[in-house]
Amino acid sequence: MGKRSIKKVLVANRGEIALRVIRTCREMGIETVAVYSEIDRNMPHVLNADEAYHIGPPPSRESYLLIEKILEVAKRAKVDAVHPGYGFLAENDEFAERVSKEGLIFVGPSADSIRAMGDKTEARRLVSNAKVPVVPGTEDSVESAQEARSFCKEYGYPVLIKAVAGGGGKGMRIVHKPEDLPQLFSAAQSEARSAFGDSRVYVEKYLERPRHVEFQILADQYGNTVHLGERECTIQRRHQKVVEETPSIILDDAMRAKMGMTAVLAAKACNYQNAGTIEFLVDKDKNFYFLEMNTRLQVEHPITEMRTGIDLVAQQLRVAMGEELGFRQGDISFYGHAIECRIYAEDVENDFLPSTGIITHLKPSQGLGVREDRGVEQGGEISVYYDPMISKLVVWGGTRSEAIERMKRALREYEILGVRTNIPLNLFVLQHPKFVSGDFDTHFLANYYRPELLEKTTAVGRTAAAVVCALLHDRALSRGSLQQMSETMPNSRNEVHSMFPSQNHVLISKWKQQRINNMRS
Ligand code: ADP
Repeated sequence: MGKRSIKKVLVANRGEIALRVIRTCREMGIETVAVYSEIDRNMPHVLNADEAYHIGPPPSRESYLLIEKILEVAKRAKVDAVHPGYGFLAENDEFAERVSKEGLIFVGPSADSIRAMGDKTEARRLVSNAKVPVVPGTEDSVESAQEARSFCKEYGYPVLIKAVAGGGGKGMRIVHKPEDLPQLFSAAQSEARSAFGDSRVYVEKYLERPRHVEFQILADQYGNTVHLGERECTIQRRHQKVVEETPSIILDDAMRAKMGMTAVLAAKACNYQNAGTIEFLVDKDKNFYFLEMNTRLQVEHPITEMRTGIDLVAQQLRVAMGEELGFRQGDISFYGHAIECRIYAEDVENDFLPSTGIITHLKPSQGLGVREDRGVEQGGEISVYYDPMISKLVVWGGTRSEAIERMKRALREYEILGVRTNIPLNLFVLQHPKFVSGDFDTHFLANYYRPELLEKTTAVGRTAAAVVCALLHDRALSRGSLQQMSETMPNSRNEVHSMFPSQNHVLISKWKQQRINNMRS
């Protein structure tokens, strides 16, 4: 393929990841082109790019997922490369192929690698041939519950029915008893059909209390493949990651080296180039099994960057230009501990309902060791059209406990109003003795989280209460006295949250009355 330079990149994405890519491009002197849907016209990724093009209405099927439209912009803007970010078209082999056919560089692996790894049964076949251990499961997709039975009998329940084209935890069903198999089998099939347009499913042994540990891979076109250490992504809700950290508390150097080497083998099994992630499940006896490969940049990539000092987007671009990796495995050093909390707009006290609306106030945490990747500003909207992730709050500390304390401080400092967030849930995790001691599995939240255990007085609540006090009393904010006031009202957070976005005067006066009553009693 040889060397080709990249002078201008189209970022086929939105939000924080588009901005993340644009930032590195700027540092490398590469011009950037953003695309946006109607509702995103004032988003930071649009305002920060050198050029921006409108591609359609808000639904992603009519904008960010339109291959033709994006290629049309790429040609019009005369870019020489396309970066897909994650989500949307990032793991769409047809998109990667079309980009290359237009004579442009796709900043990612080849369409063939994406295709092979996107099919879970094919990926399992490829890596097992390279002697990588996989979770026991059926070799091919399974047509019917009847056909699944023989595997279930041989390996015993529980089993997990999974979509061959799976992603985002969709199309998965755990089966504990043989009598539930037919119904759960068809449920998985129909969820797979509607999510991926592909109803094929297969069966895996369900590991009961696993941890999810993944390895970051970088590979160039000259056969150099290295890993950048692991990310512990065990803290999940409904198979979706919430808190990630590196290193993993369960890995020692020997196990890290063994898993890292295995991850490199798995990547080589599909002739992988560019950045990718090999996901493993680890059982209680520390046996590890290949789960899947993600053929793109991961949401949680910043923790690897914090710990290695390597800019993964810069590496992606260099490798895509045909440069050789500038380091070997032994040259990569790891420093300290990094944690990422995903801040979602959701109501953690009310079954995690998405919380859409305008962000009326936003003052993110700052200070030593804090990084925040966010693609929306104060005044911006969290809409129903896209993933409700507001921000990725990332901290670095010399040790795990320093990183935990720093993350707790950063979460408490984070001020946001207008939408509810899962900040209290993140704090719950960071403070939990089982998390602190490292004794957890993928069921941590399901087992321990209860809304009534949430910390009630976060900075968000205090600030909101303080702001409203100031408004009601028509006077300037005096932090000390207002904080004191808000602390006398432990339940003010909910009240304030519900009234502040809408400026609901009825609620304000109710709240004021309650405050007066509190003062009297
Ligand atoms: P997706 O591609 O939909 O994200 P994955 O295969 O990556 O699905 O799995 C997502 C999560 O589901 C894992 O991190 C783990 O928590 C759980 N999971 C998947 N397969 C198994 C299994 N065989 N046993 C136990 N848990 C599993």
